[in-house]
Amino acid sequence: MTAAAGIRAVFLGGPGAGKGTQAQRLAASGIAAHISTGDMLRAHVADGTDLGKQARGYMDSGRLVPDDVIIAMVMHRIAEPDARGSWILDGFPRTLPQAEALEANLSDAGQALSHVVHFAVPHEDLVARLTGRRTCGSCGAIWHVQFQPTARESVCDRCGGALVQRADDRIEAVEKRLQVYRTQTEPLLAFYRDQGTLVEVDASRPRDEVYRQVESVLALAGRSTAHESDNL
Ligand code: AMP
Repeated sequence: MTAAAGIRAVFLGGPGAGKGTQAQRLAASGIAAHISTGDMLRAHVADGTDLGKQARGYMDSGRLVPDDVIIAMVMHRIAEPDARGSWILDGFPRTLPQAEALEANLSDAGQALSHVVHFAVPHEDLVARLTGRRTCGSCGAIWHVQFQPTARESVCDRCGGALVQRADDRIEAVEKRLQVYRTQTEPLLAFYRDQGTLVEVDASRPRDEVYRQVESVLALAGRSTAHESDNL
């Protein structure tokens, strides 16, 4: 797939649905900048910034960081030069106020979202995906002890870095994150469905197959006219 200009996409789905994996791959192919609010916050935590100090407690326990903090961070990010063409938001919006702020910001710039993609996975699968997930501490590549193991245990196949388990991928935090997803983020599905912009992918399929579904949605689904039922 060649770089498609003007992708302004939101990837929605529960934690562990594979949004980050797919967005990373699209970004590596030069299709769009990958903007992950979780990755941005983890970088702030690692760098010990004020924002990181403020966010850490929320993140480790699986709760959402307050809307005003996140909204300011994302609006700043999508104004940066590498995001002027095409971008994919992964992990944002997660609440109705975030979705409304995004819409208002884009509309002020005479823009609108081009795609809203829902990565649908049964919740019971998400627990296994999250608790087995390992992330490379050096390059950020995502692996799984069972579904995507590395050749050497705990060593990244891509860069040789050490794999770590995110604090919020431990079972207690996972349960909290799923509950937060159900109560605060799932209502966004109806919000975007009502706007006619929501497209579903079956993210319970193997990751290469999901990638093909996503490619097809980004390349073929009409921009503002894409509708969920077109792709069922
Ligand atoms: P993620 O990597 O997307 O699962 O995000 C990890 C954690 O970062 C979440 O559990 C939240 O604590 C925080 N976070 C990421 N994105 C958002 C957001 N849009 N709104 C509030 N908190 C967020």
